[in-house]
Amino acid sequence: MMTSVTRATFDQVMVPTYAPAAMLPVRGAGSRIWDSEGREYVDFAGGIAVNALGHCHPVMVKAVTEQAQKIWHLANGYTNIPALELAQKLIDNTFAERVFFANSGGEANEAAFKLARAYAKQHGGPNKVEIVSTFNSFHGRTLFTVSVGGQEKYTKGFEPLPPGIKHVPYNDIDALDGAINENTCAVVLEPMQGEGGVTPADAAYLKKARELCDKHGALLIFDEVQCGMGRTGYLYNYMEYGVTPDILTSAKALGGGFPIAAMLTTEKVAKALAVGSHGSTYGGNPMACAVASAVFDVINHPDTLAGVRQRHDQFFNGLNAIKDKTGVFSLVRGKGLLIGCVLSEKYAGKSKDFVTAALAEGLLILQAGPDVIRLAPSLIIPEADIKEGLAKFERAIAKVMASV
Ligand SMILES: *Cc1c(COP(=O)(O)O)cnc(C)c1O
Repeated sequence: MMTSVTRATFDQVMVPTYAPAAMLPVRGAGSRIWDSEGREYVDFAGGIAVNALGHCHPVMVKAVTEQAQKIWHLANGYTNIPALELAQKLIDNTFAERVFFANSGGEANEAAFKLARAYAKQHGGPNKVEIVSTFNSFHGRTLFTVSVGGQEKYTKGFEPLPPGIKHVPYNDIDALDGAINENTCAVVLEPMQGEGGVTPADAAYLKKARELCDKHGALLIFDEVQCGMGRTGYLYNYMEYGVTPDILTSAKALGGGFPIAAMLTTEKVAKALAVGSHGSTYGGNPMACAVASAVFDVINHPDTLAGVRQRHDQFFNGLNAIKDKTGVFSLVRGKGLLIGCVLSEKYAGKSKDFVTAALAEGLLILQAGPDVIRLAPSLIIPEADIKEGLAKFERAIAKVMASV
């Protein structure tokens, strides 16, 4: 490869917000990637639940190539065919009646929270501004979204924070009941917390959240940026629970690797945002929408969604066997292909060690905080890659155990 940059260049040119791995990936295909030295890896990380169809899926390559020869960008003084087609697909297949496009999960949530405030002002009055969120939740990195997110490590040092936000423990019905009142404009929940440790919601909790929102005239927002788009074996996770939100945010797997996000809502709620009240230069960009539209068709197919559930079983069987054999995990949890391996007491706080050891064995995995190892592979990862990746994982675990 003719390039003078290396991984070491990162530390000389980038704002130090990340600590990327020592290797430099240069190519991907399916659930495999290769680094600049030609070393091959199995990918169980999926770009943090983004690469739902793996790397360089032919359907995506075709969509991006064809659109690249038509039109790239217009901004929102004009609409475009890929955006209209994608919006129509999202509406035809979900509760939604209206769609707002953005470029990242954080931006979709920013739009959702602003919409909730605007709607409540118009329908409930000037004091109806409070947002109820949960501890350990994650909603993005803008100042508003880190503030709504329930992890202090992401707000520390950035104060003053926007007011009017309350946090309660996740899956705790009484705490939610106690926090909602006539001044609540919205309750925001991840149906399965991703960054916070891969924690699925109890069905009774989401049902109660819906009831409480209806009782107090608050909007229910589901952040499905990580758990949506086929990840749990359903197009969106709310469909499994049969609890319908007023606003839903989607990103990550939506573009399969091309940056795009969407906020879905009803016609009635959407009306609170009039022309000029919110916007995005790139949101609804034809390139992003063309790719997302192609990705959507593959994910929203019964075979793909059934395939997620089969792969879930293969992962759970393999991971539970590792758990029983090694005692490294206290619990394997999650749904579909968003899986959390909770480290047992002896290994608590050491998730990063496992990520590093796995990489040395040729396997990409993720953390979800210091105590949980997270897997978010492609939704169509081949059975053989799962088998090989699990064997690599087991070897990495043996090395960590030997060094502790
Ligand atoms: C990743 C994530 C976000 C933020 O998405 P970005 O694209 O990084 O802005 C928001 N909510 C959830 C649940 C996420 O997992």
